[in-house]
Amino acid sequence: MMAQYGALKEEAGDCLLFYRMGDFFELFFDDAKVAAGILDIALTARGEKNGEPVPMCGVPVHSAEGYLARLIKAGCRVAIAEQTETPEEAKARAKADGKPASKVLVARNIVRFVTAGTLTEDALLEPRAANVLAAACEVRGSVGLASVDISTGRMVLEEIEPHALDAALARLGPSETVVPEDWAQAPADAFERAKTEFSSEDGERRLKTIHSVAALDGFGQFTRAMLAAAGGLIAYLDHAGRGKLPLLLPPVARGRSAHMAMDGATRSSLEILSAQNGGREGSLLAAIDRCVTGAGARQLAEDLGAPLCERQAIEDRLALVRFFHDDPILRADLREVLRGVPDIGRALGRIVAGRGSPRDIGQVRDGLSEARRLRDYLSGQQDRPTLFDTLLPALGGHGALVDHLQRALVPAPPTSRDQGGYIASGFDAALDELRDVSGNARRAIASLEARYRGETGIDRLKIKHNGVLGYFIEVPAKSADALMAPDSGFTHRQTMAGAVRFNSLQLHEEAGRISEAGGRALAAEEAHFEELVEHVTASREAIARTADALARIDVAAGQAERAAEGDWARPEILEEPCLRIEAGRHPVVESALAKSGERFVPNDCTLASDDRLWLIGGPNMGGKSTFLRQNALIVLLAQAGGYVPASAARIGLVDRLFSRVGASDNLARGRSTFMVEMVETAAILSQATERSFVILDEVGRGTSTYDGLALAWAVVEAVHETNRSRCLFATHYHELSRLAESCDALSLHHVRAREWKGDLVLLHELATGPADRSYGLAVAKLAGVPPPVVARAKSVLEKLEKGREETGGLAAGLGDLPLFAAALPDDPGEQGDPLAEAFAALDVDALSPREALEKLYELKRLSDES
Ligand code: ATP
Repeated sequence: MMAQYGALKEEAGDCLLFYRMGDFFELFFDDAKVAAGILDIALTARGEKNGEPVPMCGVPVHSAEGYLARLIKAGCRVAIAEQTETPEEAKARAKADGKPASKVLVARNIVRFVTAGTLTEDALLEPRAANVLAAACEVRGSVGLASVDISTGRMVLEEIEPHALDAALARLGPSETVVPEDWAQAPADAFERAKTEFSSEDGERRLKTIHSVAALDGFGQFTRAMLAAAGGLIAYLDHAGRGKLPLLLPPVARGRSAHMAMDGATRSSLEILSAQNGGREGSLLAAIDRCVTGAGARQLAEDLGAPLCERQAIEDRLALVRFFHDDPILRADLREVLRGVPDIGRALGRIVAGRGSPRDIGQVRDGLSEARRLRDYLSGQQDRPTLFDTLLPALGGHGALVDHLQRALVPAPPTSRDQGGYIASGFDAALDELRDVSGNARRAIASLEARYRGETGIDRLKIKHNGVLGYFIEVPAKSADALMAPDSGFTHRQTMAGAVRFNSLQLHEEAGRISEAGGRALAAEEAHFEELVEHVTASREAIARTADALARIDVAAGQAERAAEGDWARPEILEEPCLRIEAGRHPVVESALAKSGERFVPNDCTLASDDRLWLIGGPNMGGKSTFLRQNALIVLLAQAGGYVPASAARIGLVDRLFSRVGASDNLARGRSTFMVEMVETAAILSQATERSFVILDEVGRGTSTYDGLALAWAVVEAVHETNRSRCLFATHYHELSRLAESCDALSLHHVRAREWKGDLVLLHELATGPADRSYGLAVAKLAGVPPPVVARAKSVLEKLEKGREETGGLAAGLGDLPLFAAALPDDPGEQGDPLAEAFAALDVDALSPREALEKLYELKRLSDES
């Protein structure tokens, strides 16, 4: 057995090997140690190797899914080795080979690799999140990127610049990425595969075979890099499924500028799909998701992750949202219907992958039939938005399939085929007959029980059934004697603690009828099941289109619902680089404040070519970061095709969105906070364009005051002069306000605050003009910093400010960095000359002669140093 295990383990490579033994999957050696640790199950030992006991642990087959889910979540890959023959077959094989049956081992094979990106099981997937597998490689200086959600089969191929790979992966958020081995550009956590798998010829050939076409032109224009990535992706899927490919829909080619570019840092800083802590709670998605289906929620996440850059496409989505927004009754009805529509995209994924159940086919049937109902309902509406022209036809067209499935399947089919009973009666006369036979036999057995009770006079005689004995007659032990007699017509089978079990000829015959008819009925149902799977598979593309159309409608209705809830506005999309947001709000902060009964203060933002950079000052906690982010989120929501939290918004299309927060912690990635800040700033300065929107929050604060101020100064100038992007820049450096004199498209703003009876009142209201002061100490007091510390800070501040005045003000010396150093008094505190201080601290009477001599040396050294 260990030899067989060893060979399978070698094939499994770095995957954990689940080795099937009867009702368990067993793990051995290091695999067992790793799995036992993650799953928190007992680690035992079995046999020994090289004198050492072999570590082992196991999970029951019937509950393996839950354990798999935990292993995958912990970053493991698992190879499943199943028994590919029954013990009886193994024995027969041994006999044919002339070997003793006791020595034979059941054959086992790896039937599947389970990895994060190749899951289709319902139980292992988040209903509201896509599960993306990505493959990337480089062909002649361009990076090809293939991605697929194999739970629904949607596949996208794109070609990008090498430097844009991180941003593209951040957009896709894959749970697994495969790359060719030894690729210098490879992202850190990618999984390496052989280079030869990333071949554009293979990619093209396989796509053609999968979709039975002679050329791919009908699907779009694909470059060598795209096809090579597709080749790598399909080769990996082929490997993971051991030759059985999952559902793959025709690939969609994505152009370079189809989407608003956002890098990973921007995404995490804006907390689009998940909050900084990694959870969904607190993210933009959580604040706006009103979808009633899992597929809708997945589509919304995709939309927010990849906002559009093309005006017409955005307008089309907005028109759809408006259609549902303006008709609350229709919206409520529609959402009620959608709520009951099953996730047909994922059911289809399982069916095509060969892991579908009767219930999955039932879901496809019900989903398609609801879709048809929705189409009829929506077709009758007035003022239909343009997107209906493509969405409504996609909802229908399955009449024949739905009818067939309705006739074939029972209304609520089971998830397992083992017991049968999922094919509807009336669908197959032969199957009905077999069911009659077993039904009759069951009735015969019931009457047999009554007859035996009468004949034997034993009231507690029962006919029972279990998996081991099949049907049997059971009587209490004390009444068993009469049945034990040789001529009683009963044969003894088993004696239990309080009961004895028998068989009889009639029972044997009826039971035989049941099991024979049952076996044949099961086989007949299996055959029908295969045929239904084929039927569904044949229409997979059309079914996937229906699933997409349902998701798109759910997203639009959900966006409309959210907009109605929050009194949001339909944004106007323009080509020229402007931004005019009236009474804008931050959707997440507003909801959080509402929970504690507080009101969010709306603010305007108006940027245009001649006033494109706003420098925003004001107190800590004043709402600067909130204001910056709310405007970025409004742009993002608008370009994703939704309404925005504002009373009105005119948005000039944004090609790239950048969001940076000074000195955000990223120690986990092994870079100091300031280093990260500068790397990210460098990326903005090299990539932002005149059509980009940049928000910079306290950039420069991660280093010494003067270095930080100098850098912030230079960055603002560069964004203003060179990048010419629309930009909001929040800062505590008052000195930057001098920039307004030299930068003509820069204006000064601040969030308002007042000091009232010695306390700080934050108004969260934006006003024009520079901030008068920072109120940092007032905020510290508000935060509960002990009064003596605040008082001490106040006196230090006074000294600092005095020093500043004496050198003519900090800003006066900008551009001449050495002056900065002169601006600070050498010592902000009360300390004077160190030598004098050392003398003052001396207690001459307490010194021994030897200590006095040592002190003398020390004072001499201090005097030399100064
Ligand atoms: P710091 O300079 O310390 O980083 P900040 O000026 O960036 O502060 P924010 O972090 O944006 O301040 O806001 C602080 C808090 O003020 C928020 O968590 C929120 O509770 C509240 N707040 C911000 N903006 C508003 C607003 N427009 N209306 C009401 N409350 C607001």
